[in-house]
Amino acid sequence: MKLPAPDTWPAELDTRRSLLLVDDDAASVQVLARMLNGLGEVRFALSGEDALRLARESPPDLILVDAEMPGLSGFEVCSTLHADPLLTDVPVIIITGHTEVAVEVAGFAAGAADFIRKPPVAEVVVARARTQLRLKALGDALRASALTDGLTGLANRRRFDQDLRIECERARRGHDSVALLLVDVDHFKRFNDHYGHVAGDACLRQIASAIRASIRRPADLAARYGGEEFAVLLPQTDAAGARAMAQRIVDAVAALALPHAGAPQPCLVSVSVGWAAVRPDADGEVVQTRGESLIESADRGLYAAKAAGRGRVGEANEAHADA
Ligand code: GH3
Ligand code: MG
Ligand code: MG
Ligand code: MG
Repeated sequence: MKLPAPDTWPAELDTRRSLLLVDDDAASVQVLARMLNGLGEVRFALSGEDALRLARESPPDLILVDAEMPGLSGFEVCSTLHADPLLTDVPVIIITGHTEVAVEVAGFAAGAADFIRKPPVAEVVVARARTQLRLKALGDALRASALTDGLTGLANRRRFDQDLRIECERARRGHDSVALLLVDVDHFKRFNDHYGHVAGDACLRQIASAIRASIRRPADLAARYGGEEFAVLLPQTDAAGARAMAQRIVDAVAALALPHAGAPQPCLVSVSVGWAAVRPDADGEVVQTRGESLIESADRGLYAAKAAGRGRVGEANEAHADA
């Protein structure tokens, strides 16, 4: 039988991937590591418990785990990872000397992606690992694009809603502050009417870049909230920080100096920004004193900025004092 040549795999994909090899026998781990050397960064664990700790520290792209180990078995490691929302997408290949169908079925039930027979054969190990890494990369790209706004490359509304929920919950638990900005482009309907929608889209992209460049911390999230509105989520940020960030964004967009013939003097594109910041009260409630959500409060600030003449930061005019 004539066999096809092994397929090629772009080298740049290998270097960014991370593998975790788990076996109670150190020699077996070394054998696997030699086989997989070059597929990505390789880490080792000599027990299931250690494997879980390492995976939680920094989720790998692929785990190869020995089925039989003292303490947690490979199957238990697999089902524990599978049940963890942060690790459920990490493929697990179980390595076993067993050939019974029942063992394989149990592994798949535990969430295993694939099996490798002992003793491992280099070409088979590499081929199966590559298949899983390729699927993981595709899944990662798909998950990322489902949370990204197509026009601006910022986080999309779905990602923003998710993160807002997570950050409010975190603030509640940690009795920490959290802030939100809502950014709306001024007179944007007139911009479209005058320059056309293609130019309007290009303008939105430039504003998005200015917002992205304005945020400082890795935890800050800039998102397209909808149409010509953007939202910025600022964890662990108080009222003073939120207000300063709102002003930075107003200034950054002004600095773009994009002509807008339909706007009042100086006929440049501008944005209005509303902000809200909260520190949870003694009951851990992340709400404003009036019982509003962060979004409602920031939206009132935005409305105030529009009413006061646009191109500025608006105050929601209420008790931010506790934030
Ligand atoms: P204001 O200063 O009060 O915010 O005025 P505005 O014209 O910006 O407000 P309005 O909400 O009346 O209009 C928003 C406009 O934004 C409507 C639409 O023409 C434009 N818009 C919304 N989404 C997009 C988009 O994705 N691309 C483009 N080119 N325009 C958009
Ligand atoms: Mg073993
Ligand atoms: Mg709007
Ligand atoms: Mg607008």
